[in-house]
Amino acid sequence: MSLVGWAEDFVLRSDVGRLLERFKEERNVLMVAGAASIALMPWCPLRAYLKALEKEQISLVYYLADLLALNVYLGRVSRREVRSAEDILYLSEPSLSDVERVLREISEEYVRVRRARKKLLVSVLRNGGAREDLYVVVNGRKVRTVQDVLSLPARVRGEVLEAVFAEVYPTIRWHFVVNGIAIVGDPDGITERFVYEFKTTRSRFLFPYMRAIALAQAELYARLFRRRERRIQVLVLEDFKLETDHGKADRRKADILIGMFRDVVEGERVRTAERWKCRCCEYRGVCEIVL
Ligand code: SF4
Repeated sequence: MSLVGWAEDFVLRSDVGRLLERFKEERNVLMVAGAASIALMPWCPLRAYLKALEKEQISLVYYLADLLALNVYLGRVSRREVRSAEDILYLSEPSLSDVERVLREISEEYVRVRRARKKLLVSVLRNGGAREDLYVVVNGRKVRTVQDVLSLPARVRGEVLEAVFAEVYPTIRWHFVVNGIAIVGDPDGITERFVYEFKTTRSRFLFPYMRAIALAQAELYARLFRRRERRIQVLVLEDFKLETDHGKADRRKADILIGMFRDVVEGERVRTAERWKCRCCEYRGVCEIVL
């Protein structure tokens, strides 16, 4: 098991709800949120908040697991010294240059594994359609063709398509506290110059909305990991076109986004302007504005 996997298991053995309360008190933060949830702001601010709320405990698990794993990796604490998950709250936060150092050290192996997986999947999708014996098992199903991939549940389908179509860069998951929000960031790639985010969307109609979400997420990553540029790619399944947008990052946009998210966390209720989004929203049954 990897060091991060061990650290996640360690945190998950605790009462994460109680840990979350302690964490917020100790660190003086309003919420622990994944950057992917905050990036839903352009779609609907309430959905961004509800998604972050739904995932708040797991975001904390990632936050604390990464903090513990990096401290162990850097030799600042031993596994045996940390007796309970609450002890992690008092570990010192490594600096961004520590995170950069680890990113450099793990990048070669990470990229090697990702490239090998990509090669295998591409080979299966190219040749598997004609050969019964050539397939990979994903989510308990045999996958041989692109059609098999498209019939997978949305989240798993996205992961497989990302493994096949996304560009391969090193990356690392890390957290930052900005404006009272603890943000867990897990970019699809980090190079010395830019951060990278990959998304898929079903249709041309949905493409501009997905592009806005991908851009918001990339701006957040660029601000958190201090990169000058951001690069996004959106795969549109309707015509299988890969749309790319690479440009200069804008720190101001990321700060505005975080500020707006904080407003929603503090009780400002701003809903989407487009009602059709509510009809297909997973929070339709609980969203106080729609009820
Ligand atoms: S139901 Fe509508 S307003 Fe509520 S979170 Fe979903 S999209 Fe936003």
